[in-house]
Amino acid sequence: MPHAISPSPITELPILGSDDSFPVRRVYCVGRNYADHAIEMGHDPDREPPFFFQKNPDNLVTSGVFPYPSGSSDVHHEIELAVCLARGGKDISLETALSHVYGYAVGLDMTRRDLQAEAKKLGRPWEIGKAFEHSAPISPIVPAARIGHPDKGVIWLKVNGEIRQSGDLAQMIWKTQEAIAYLSRLFTLAAGDIVMTGTPAGVGPVKRGDRLEGHVEGVGDLVVTVA
Ligand code: MN
Repeated sequence: MPHAISPSPITELPILGSDDSFPVRRVYCVGRNYADHAIEMGHDPDREPPFFFQKNPDNLVTSGVFPYPSGSSDVHHEIELAVCLARGGKDISLETALSHVYGYAVGLDMTRRDLQAEAKKLGRPWEIGKAFEHSAPISPIVPAARIGHPDKGVIWLKVNGEIRQSGDLAQMIWKTQEAIAYLSRLFTLAAGDIVMTGTPAGVGPVKRGDRLEGHVEGVGDLVVTVA
């Protein structure tokens, strides 16, 4: 049937070493998944059930440019491992969860911290703090067929050459397979879904002109300029 309006384009991410692209369906984010970051945000790092929020697929950008967003004067960087699904399902078991993964990328969960803090205080949803335009810069995807499933290795973010965030994937409170299994009990996952797995300690503000350089061992690098 003809569309009454022109459909918006789907978000497609490049895949390292391939001419194919990865079409994105949904973006899920795990909150407080590294103990030292939970502590810096004023929370108990005990292994409580994971919680999730979402970004919009078209928040993902690969341009290497992050335009400073409207409505905030305290925008923070959060460097994260992004997990990209080849297959979905409901009630995925822990044992099979990793077989649903197509590959991995280095992502930034850019956050309007002032708006998020206000939303937390008022018990409101987080979208205005998390799911705004260009809020999810991401690297090309590296297939798991090439690198396996990273569960340890350094993850860091430099701002203008200085280390701001650093941690190790082994510190993730909820591992990749646990996040997938848990999410699949709450949502029906599908091919093209992306799970951002949380950030280590050291989050902080960015300003126009900053150069953000992120790295996840075994996955790659992401360089973003704040414009
Ligand atoms: Mn995050």
